[in-house]
Amino acid sequence: MQHKLVFATNNLHKLQEVQHLLDSRFKLLSLSDIGFTEEIPEDFDTLELNASQKAWHIYNRFGIDCFADDTGLEVDALNGAPGVYSARYAGEQKNPQDNIVKLLAELTGIDNRKARFRTVISLIINGEESLFEGLVEGQILTRKHGEAGFGYDPIFMPDGYNVSFAQMELDAKNAISHRGRAVSKLVSFLNSK
Ligand code: IMP
Repeated sequence: MQHKLVFATNNLHKLQEVQHLLDSRFKLLSLSDIGFTEEIPEDFDTLELNASQKAWHIYNRFGIDCFADDTGLEVDALNGAPGVYSARYAGEQKNPQDNIVKLLAELTGIDNRKARFRTVISLIINGEESLFEGLVEGQILTRKHGEAGFGYDPIFMPDGYNVSFAQMELDAKNAISHRGRAVSKLVSFLNSK
């Protein structure tokens, strides 16, 4: 029998990517598959607590094994901002272009451009939680480069590369990205169960 697992996201693209990496014993369900149409609460100020809150919210409500992720861009010169607030850095409209403009403005004249993307996944199976973390270190560029990707991709250059995430092929980005790394830890854990 297939092990049903909810991925507590509304992003079907993310869900399909993870489903593709899992062996056929696992069947991922989206929030709409289980009839959940509300916003999931994200009330905390760390990625760990928010990922955990989202996963427990669904587990407690539906009693189905599930996982949730949370990602942030942590800039050293800004003491880790925008971090957990990355999506809404420039306001609740959650506009990626506005977020980039704000981040570049905050870093004007600052030489230390060190930053990392960090993803945390909380998985709950039979009421037991496991956390998985993925990181990619890099630098914030001084202007946008490239068209691909989303969010802060055009201004993030991963260490060891001289292009931004928005100038990389999706497969190349996924191989080294925060989310790719966290998901690969999740997938190894599930596939070894
Ligand atoms: P989420 O938790 O995956 O929704 O990510 C929160 C926010 O972090 C997004 O709205 C983006 O602003 C940013 N972000 C997450 N992953 C990436 C990425 O791979 N590239 C660029 N920005 C990202």
